[in-house]
Amino acid sequence: MDVTADIEAAENIKNSLKHLQKLRVSLQSLFDNLGNGPSEGQENQAYLRGIQQRLITMDNAFTELENAGNSLPSNNPPQSINTMALSLEPENESFESFHNVLNSYTWTKRMQEYSMCASSLLRDNQLKRTGPSNGLMAKRNKREVHNLPPTHVDGIISRLKTSLEHKHQDTKLDYYRPLGDSTVLVLTIEKMMKVIIVFRGLLPERILAKGFAESTSLDNGQVDIWSGSKHKVFQLVSQHAQSAMLHFNNPLCPDLNLYHLVNWLHTYKDLFTAECQYCNKILNNGLPPTARGFDKATAPAKYHPQCASSAAR
Ligand SMILES: [Zn+2]
Repeated sequence: MDVTADIEAAENIKNSLKHLQKLRVSLQSLFDNLGNGPSEGQENQAYLRGIQQRLITMDNAFTELENAGNSLPSNNPPQSINTMALSLEPENESFESFHNVLNSYTWTKRMQEYSMCASSLLRDNQLKRTGPSNGLMAKRNKREVHNLPPTHVDGIISRLKTSLEHKHQDTKLDYYRPLGDSTVLVLTIEKMMKVIIVFRGLLPERILAKGFAESTSLDNGQVDIWSGSKHKVFQLVSQHAQSAMLHFNNPLCPDLNLYHLVNWLHTYKDLFTAECQYCNKILNNGLPPTARGFDKATAPAKYHPQCASSAAR
């Protein structure tokens, strides 16, 4: 170890600090003098000479500090800002960047976790039996998104209407486009229930079940998408259908989601005649089995809401 060099470096640092102190004192003196202005009875010329003298002193102190600084051992500046050093700041509450960096980190970390979770879910639910083959899937990835043009949506709903009404004579599917690109679909199941589904593109956004006798239109003839049913049984069906809407939500196959959702809703045709698969009764607390499983879209398990949680255990 070169002790002499170290002593010299320490001396240089000491001198630099002295010069820095001198510069600060002269700067403080200058600012004080400027702030206070000329003293009583002092002529302007004398005051300006005083200022000039202080500026010269400060200039000398700066030159000395600069020379002392040049003699210090060189130290490479950091190539990039090291955010890790932010956590070493003793008063990190005093500036915003620490919080901003922390928020960005938390957000990115969470997004990474969600995307990994979504990726594994999609991998496990590839709809092998009813879904398209890999070749078709690749094509869908390129062109199909939820926000499809209205003509494309009309085509899909029209095909669904034809196949559904052909398969179930008791069912009717009507669709309207009251405002913009949003589509309103009204599914009538026998003379028992009506379901209103509001879509943006092919993404269902709202779903409401009502009794057959309840009105589904406003005074101006448009579909009433806001008023819920006054009957408890259809309110429960609406709640459960909201869950189904979220369940049948494969981002790669929006048309298949719609197909599954409508077929699942159609299973409510036996709402008032089917037995609960847990307690084997039709009525429980005066209500039929309004909860349906999502495992099979065309033949789901049927439960009373209070039996569904017991059956799941
Ligand atoms: Zn039950």
